[in-house]
Amino acid sequence: MEDFVNIESVVVGEGRLSLEVVLAPGIPHTTDARMAKMACCRCSALPIHTCINKAGPTFGSVIDRTSLPHLLEHLIIDAQVHNSRTKPSQRFVGTTNWVDEGAGRAHIEVNFYDDLIALRAVKDAVAVLNDILSEYGTIRGGRQ
Ligand SMILES: [Zn+2]
Repeated sequence: MEDFVNIESVVVGEGRLSLEVVLAPGIPHTTDARMAKMACCRCSALPIHTCINKAGPTFGSVIDRTSLPHLLEHLIIDAQVHNSRTKPSQRFVGTTNWVDEGAGRAHIEVNFYDDLIALRAVKDAVAVLNDILSEYGTIRGGRQ
C-alpha cells in the first residue's frame, strides 16, 4: 500500500506522545463528507469523541471538514480506546496543529497510559488512514 501519510518523528514524553506528520504531495489536506463516512465505517465511535473545536463538543461536529492530521489524531485516540488493555475509565485527549499547511506538515500530541499501546495505536491509525486515502483515490478514479 502506498504511504499517503507518514510519521516523521515520535517523541515519547511523560504520558504524552508528540508526532510530526507529513502528508504526501497531492493528497487532500482536509476531510470531506465522503472521507468522513469512510472513517466512520472503520471506526464508528469517531463522531462521539470529545473534541475541542469551534463547531461543537464532539469530533462529529467537524469530521467532514477538518484537517487530515486532526482525523489521524482521533484515529490514534480511537485505537487506544479499543485496545483490550485500556480501561474504560481512561480518557484520551489530543491536539493537532499545522506546522506548515502548504507542505502538509503537522504536529499531533495525544496522551497515553501505556507507551506501547500508544505506539501500536499510531501504527494502526496510520494504516487505517492510508487505507481510507487509498479507497478515496480509487473511487474518485484519480490518484493511483
Ligand atoms: Zn479533535
